[in-house]
Amino acid sequence: MRLVLLGPPGSGKGTQATRLKEDLGIAHISTGDLLRAEVAAGTELGKQAKAVMDAGNLVSDEILLGMLEARLGQPDVAKGFILDGYPRNVAQANALDGLLAKISQPLDAVVQLDVATELLVERIAGRAAEQGRADDNPESVRQRLQVYNEQTAPVVDFYAGRGTLARVDGVGELDEVEGRITAALPKH
Ligand code: AMP
Repeated sequence: MRLVLLGPPGSGKGTQATRLKEDLGIAHISTGDLLRAEVAAGTELGKQAKAVMDAGNLVSDEILLGMLEARLGQPDVAKGFILDGYPRNVAQANALDGLLAKISQPLDAVVQLDVATELLVERIAGRAAEQGRADDNPESVRQRLQVYNEQTAPVVDFYAGRGTLARVDGVGELDEVEGRITAALPKH
């Protein structure tokens, strides 16, 4: 199963992707986690990305593409994958098409987690208290939501236009939401 999980910041993508990884036995590729690992390791890429991430903006398409290409080349990806946090704009969606065509591993499904904006802000505030992410401060959260609406929401339309999109209600118990996602996946 090769799946893209879309949704605004705070919609539960990361949480659900972690569960789906276990239940489906596939790789979880979070571009946010990959970037945070670069920042923590103090690499050149991490140094470039940190300020952009802390401000709630998108790291360059070029950096993301290089990082993703390297990750997709790792052996665990052969079992399938969940992409969490990529693509974040239409240029990335097109780049992903090219990348997957090159390795003959097209997507099986794209699932959008729908959550109302008021709830997102509440959830992110909860996460900030728990995890202390540098970009979970109010200003950065506002910017991330704006970036989502301006740049990532068109990605939803991009996949909807192709008929590969399933929209799932992201509000409810974790099991319930996961059940909705798995029900929306094509049967193999
Ligand atoms: P996330 O953990 O998915 O919320 O990502 C945290 C931050 O990493 C985002 O606010 C962006 O600054 C950066 N990031 C993650 N994925 C991408 C992407 N596909 N394109 C650009 N920036 C990204």
